[in-house]
Amino acid sequence: MKVISVLGSTGSIGQNVLEIVRRYPERYRIAALTAGSRVELLASQAKEFQPDIISIAREDLADTLRQLLPPGLQERVHVGMEGNVAAATSACAQMVITAVVGSVGLVPTLAAIDAGKDIGLANKETLVMAGRLVMHRVSEMGVRLLPIDSEHSAIFQALEAGRRQDVNTILLTASGGPFRTLPKEDLQGVSPGQALAHPNWNMGQKISIDSATLMNKGLEVIEARWLFDVPPEQIQVVVHPQSIVHSLVEYVDGSVVAQLGIPDMQIPISYALSYPERLQLGLSQLDLVRCNDLTFEDPDFDRFPALPLAFEALQRGGVTPAVLNAANEIAVDAFLHERILFTDIPEIVAAAMAAVTPADDMDLNTILHADQTAREHAQRTIAKLVSDRS
Ligand code: NAD
Ligand code: MG
Repeated sequence: MKVISVLGSTGSIGQNVLEIVRRYPERYRIAALTAGSRVELLASQAKEFQPDIISIAREDLADTLRQLLPPGLQERVHVGMEGNVAAATSACAQMVITAVVGSVGLVPTLAAIDAGKDIGLANKETLVMAGRLVMHRVSEMGVRLLPIDSEHSAIFQALEAGRRQDVNTILLTASGGPFRTLPKEDLQGVSPGQALAHPNWNMGQKISIDSATLMNKGLEVIEARWLFDVPPEQIQVVVHPQSIVHSLVEYVDGSVVAQLGIPDMQIPISYALSYPERLQLGLSQLDLVRCNDLTFEDPDFDRFPALPLAFEALQRGGVTPAVLNAANEIAVDAFLHERILFTDIPEIVAAAMAAVTPADDMDLNTILHADQTAREHAQRTIAKLVSDRS
């Protein structure tokens, strides 16, 4: 029996995690569940899985949550970052699944690592902000950090076919998002609704917008750099619109090892949960004959400048990736609220990156300070854009 805490249990990844737990009650027990705002769903998950810790982001929501829970569970309600950390460090949990969205994942994930928990990481922002620090703690504590992001799960699996020193290139595939073929001049007019309509995956709002700008792939390049300890020059992005080949590893002898599968997040989630075993998931099988064409193309850095910005952030190093991430979170939120244009997103990120003073990325407070400064910078850029256009 593996006991797990799920941070962000009401999200797209979180619900998929619980779906697998539901299917394998003899293998998994839930120690803790945390969420941001969907109180009713969190309450129903808590009644079903009876965790020791239930946490919601805000105090006012915690009151509603307590009212929805029976006595016995009401006393287990925690709030905010304290609740996320309590869930991440819960004494009986062996593994923590970080499925919250955004920078909120970093602090509880570090706390879980320091408490000796294995991590199933969906929250790529954690490694983007503090990859060097997080991986250092992982190795110091001797815990496992298993990727849930589908591309990284694919690379993790492909790396099992050879020795690290024999790796030539890591090839990260990207679907290209909903605007893959849209002409450059049409990008500025796209609406949040159009950007949220991802062709292959059904995901949370923030990652869906990131997929449309290709910032998601940029974040994944940074994630891969730290997770697999490969220099950025050895990471290449290939657009593969069908999302069947989830990523590939090229070895020095020219062999290329790929992982394929239907686009369903239960596959990488279950692999992180059950590694090194594999679970029967009852999903439809990959039918290669019906896939017709599997195509590959270069990403267009000109139409999707967020991707080269991520490479630049890695090259500048230190806290720059944390700045990129923070400014992007603010810009995506402003786009979702129709305050800015789609094409403003990378510009706001670039402006924040240009304004930052480089600092070391091994200290949590320095990283959190850079995150905060970048958020403020992005807010000012957005306010100026809005006032210039009104
Ligand atoms: P989502 O928006 O569907 O879910 C986010 C979850 O985080 C929700 O449960 C929300 O309530 C919770 N949350 C937000 N703020 C919180 C807070 N302050 N405290 C506690 N919980 C909080 O997002 P998602 O699509 O499930 O993505 C989650 C993470 O996984 C992201 O980092 C994303 O990049 C990554 N990821 C997602 C997918 C996917 O297919 N959805 C694939 C790969 C990676
Ligand atoms: Mg991914």
